Amino acid sequence: MQKLLEQCSVWSLRQAYTEVFSEVRSHPEVVQRLERAYTLLSRDMEYSIERGDSKALLQFRIRSPHGEYTVVPSQQSCTCPDAQQGQYCKHRLAVRLLLLALKRSHQAKMARELEQSR
Ligand SMILES: [Zn+2]
Repeated sequence: MQKLLEQCSVWSLRQAYTEVFSEVRSHPEVVQRLERAYTLLSRDMEYSIERGDSKALLQFRIRSPHGEYTVVPSQQSCTCPDAQQGQYCKHRLAVRLLLLALKRSHQAKMARELEQSR
C-alpha cells in the first residue's frame, strides 16, 4: 500500500475519513469498520494495498495477516468473508478512503502549482 499511500497526505486521508464518516454515521457497524480501515491505512504495516493486474477493471489487492483479498470498487465487492455476508467490509472502506485521499491530494497539488505559476 505504501506506494499508493505515499501519494496522499495525512491531511487528505483525514478529509477522506470525514467525508465517508458523514455518509455512514447512521450505521454504527459500518462506522466501526471505517475506524479500522482508517487505522490500517494510516499505521498498520501488516496490510498492503496495490492496484490489481486487470487493465479493464479498476481493482485492488489487499494483503492482510488473515489472507489476500480483491476489492473491485465499481462492483462494490470484496472477496473477504465479511463481505460475503453482505457487510460493507473494512477493505472496501480502505480502498474508498484511499481513492478519495488520492483525489484530494492531487487536487491540492494542482492548486499549489496554479498558485505558484501566477
Ligand atoms: Zn473485505
